[in-house]
Amino acid sequence: DYVTGGASPKESDLEVISNRTIKLNVPHGSNGLLLKNLYLSCDPYMHACMHKFENPSIDFVSFTPGLPIRGYGVGKVVDSDHPKFKKGDFVWGKTGWEEYSLLSTSEAEALFKIDHTDVPLSYYTGILGVTGITAYAGFFEICSPRKGEYVFVSAASGAVGQLVGQFAKLMGCYVVGCAGSKQKVDLLKNKLGFDEVFNYKEETNFEATLTRCFPEGIDIYFDNVGGKMLDAVLVNMRRNGRIALCGMISEVQKDTPEGVYNLIRAIGKRVRLEGFIMNDYLHLYPKYLEFVLPSIREGKIVYLEDLAYGLENGPSALIGILSGRNIGKQVVVVAKE
Ligand code: NDP
Repeated sequence: DYVTGGASPKESDLEVISNRTIKLNVPHGSNGLLLKNLYLSCDPYMHACMHKFENPSIDFVSFTPGLPIRGYGVGKVVDSDHPKFKKGDFVWGKTGWEEYSLLSTSEAEALFKIDHTDVPLSYYTGILGVTGITAYAGFFEICSPRKGEYVFVSAASGAVGQLVGQFAKLMGCYVVGCAGSKQKVDLLKNKLGFDEVFNYKEETNFEATLTRCFPEGIDIYFDNVGGKMLDAVLVNMRRNGRIALCGMISEVQKDTPEGVYNLIRAIGKRVRLEGFIMNDYLHLYPKYLEFVLPSIREGKIVYLEDLAYGLENGPSALIGILSGRNIGKQVVVVAKE
């Protein structure tokens, strides 16, 4: 399970080394492929993978000390012995944090071939990758939004949050977000079209702030942070509201979670809270692409990215998302084609 506790990961827990050699061809008969890694995705769940899981699951696997960490990324096929891919193809999926990755048959099988290259390839770590599916499934499948509803999103300038807010605007909802700096608040209001945004580090009475932003209450809460914010939201929910439990970034670094005291409010208000993991919604990917690609091309959806250049800047990029250093999707650029 994705649990809390344990020391927060630090940059010094990661090491960049240059003594691992890979032959730049795939052994014949192996059915594998060789990938040149271009863009790597920094995701909050990766911090959990730096701990040893008591109950490993297919969703979360601990990293192996001494080996390149594994995560989602975009790459170019350099050599292939796999029937699905050929040299020169662009793909996204699970790869290694290294310049080149030799992937086994099963690892290659799980990759997605990139058919649309008229949009930035780095988007396949975010809006066109698992981040996008998370926002899409979490908002449309879990929250069942209706036009005109009142929607609140936490970590709103992050990779997932910025999309949920924009999807909600496209649906005709009233959208409020919270973020941790003035720069983020301004971007969400002025560039991404949120109706209202507050800085949760300055407006620390969450309950009162939410009552001000939602005088009629909240229909949908897309929760990326958990903790005190979730508690304050429960007080402000409307009858028959929905809460998508996507992530609890404020909780995962704590040895002891703060606890949610207002859960009892969900009973009388008939509020539905549902946790979800994007892995269960990968089948929606083709439908999601049909929805999102035209919106990107027509400029109806804007995607904020924070690019860190070079593998040597990977550790600080990955650790930085815990303290909110990223503005938008945090990506590590390993190479350009
Ligand atoms: P982000 O790009 O949003 O980066 C994390 C952001 O969280 C930071 O930029 C920071 O922004 C904010 N943050 C950090 N610490 C705190 C805190 N203590 N309290 C409040 N906000 C904090 O990450 P993602 O968009 O990729 O992920 C968002 C959430 O979604 C995470 O909880 C993640 O675990 C979850 N997730 C869940 C998935 C699923 O399948 N259920 C899949 C993918 C992600 P700020 O400056 O605003 O504080």
